[in-house]
Amino acid sequence: MVLVDGVMRIATIANKVRQGGRVDRDEALELYAHAPTALLGELADGIRARRHPERIVTYIIDRNVNYTNVCVARCNFCAFYRPVGSAEGYVLGFEEIFRKIDETIELGGGQLLLQGGHNPDLPLEWYEDLFRSVKERYPQFRLHALSPPEVIHLTRMSRLTVPQVIERLIAAGLDSIPGGGAEILVDRVRRILNCYGKATADEWLGVMREAHRAGLRTTATMMYGHVETVEDRLEHMFRLRDLQDESMGSPAVTATQGFAAKAGFTAFITWSYQPEHTELGGFEATGIEYLRTLAVARIVLDNFDNLQASWVTQGGKVGQLSLAYGANDMGSVMIEENVVRAAGAAYCMDEIEIVRNVENAGFTAKRRNMHYEILGDPIFRERDVPRMLELAVARGDGDTSRPAELKNYAARSAAEKRLRQNPQM
Ligand code: SF4
Repeated sequence: MVLVDGVMRIATIANKVRQGGRVDRDEALELYAHAPTALLGELADGIRARRHPERIVTYIIDRNVNYTNVCVARCNFCAFYRPVGSAEGYVLGFEEIFRKIDETIELGGGQLLLQGGHNPDLPLEWYEDLFRSVKERYPQFRLHALSPPEVIHLTRMSRLTVPQVIERLIAAGLDSIPGGGAEILVDRVRRILNCYGKATADEWLGVMREAHRAGLRTTATMMYGHVETVEDRLEHMFRLRDLQDESMGSPAVTATQGFAAKAGFTAFITWSYQPEHTELGGFEATGIEYLRTLAVARIVLDNFDNLQASWVTQGGKVGQLSLAYGANDMGSVMIEENVVRAAGAAYCMDEIEIVRNVENAGFTAKRRNMHYEILGDPIFRERDVPRMLELAVARGDGDTSRPAELKNYAARSAAEKRLRQNPQM
């Protein structure tokens, strides 16, 4: 009898979803915990089809550049960071970043996803100078940069408020904010992951709220499969849904940047925790768990236009399957990746491979910008672009060079102060 009740409950919730109804937390938990995976896929695919009836799957050509790996936050799930003073720590120079932009443009890209560690020796002025110099050289190039914890880090370094830091970054050339550093937006979980100090759940959401108020579009992410419960994942999704409701009701106008006047999050991206080389250790969530999580996110986040497939962590084959579980975007033709690779995942797909997977799944592949506006057909069908069979890294092995311009900025750590005062370095 209990089993029959459960089946009936799931059937009732499924019908509500099919009719475009909004699920509450109990209904979402019922689906996540008990609905068959095929049913979750059917419901999520139905929502994807209603939002994107033209069967277009988008992707962006951009480069994921990590400007520094020096970080004081020390999240225990992170295999990328190096502590202050480490011989393996690096900061990219402006010229190195320009070279990466040149290579990105050659491959048809028009944007950097620029994120890095919380380096105490890079003041706000360094970011402003970098952004300005990128925009002077490449006026059309877009900067999707600095996740909310990096913005919080800059408020602490500069003693300015979040709106003030965002305003200065926009004035320097910031175009949008990536949703990194969200992990799970539940403070109990964040304390266990040692990422509560870098940004609480409210602080992460607060940066996004202010970014939306300032007229920026942003993305939202979720890293699951470590110490959280299914209820925590749903709490994360519902907090994002609430903020999206709030931001979509706000009069944010992005027309000044030449984009359509829409507000809030453009997309949601979820991926599983990658355990290799991390202090936290453990196992990676399975492919089925990924697909169930993606489908539930598509059902809960009914005010998000786009869900990305995370082929970078799940591989091309599960990435392709994501298109039947609610995803309508293949994310980035990632030219460079350092963070996920440090934790053991090293999947690579260039534009040809992404398009092959999209078309084989029965969709039309289109290039987009970070606002999910269609730019055109695959670039390799318009002109010759080099094939990219492995991802680039931030720096070549053994390259310990120090950018000359660092001397122009005030350091905070004793080790870095000594280096910047030494005329030989
Ligand atoms: S996840 Fe980001 S903030 Fe956390 S230790 Fe790694 S680089 Fe630092």
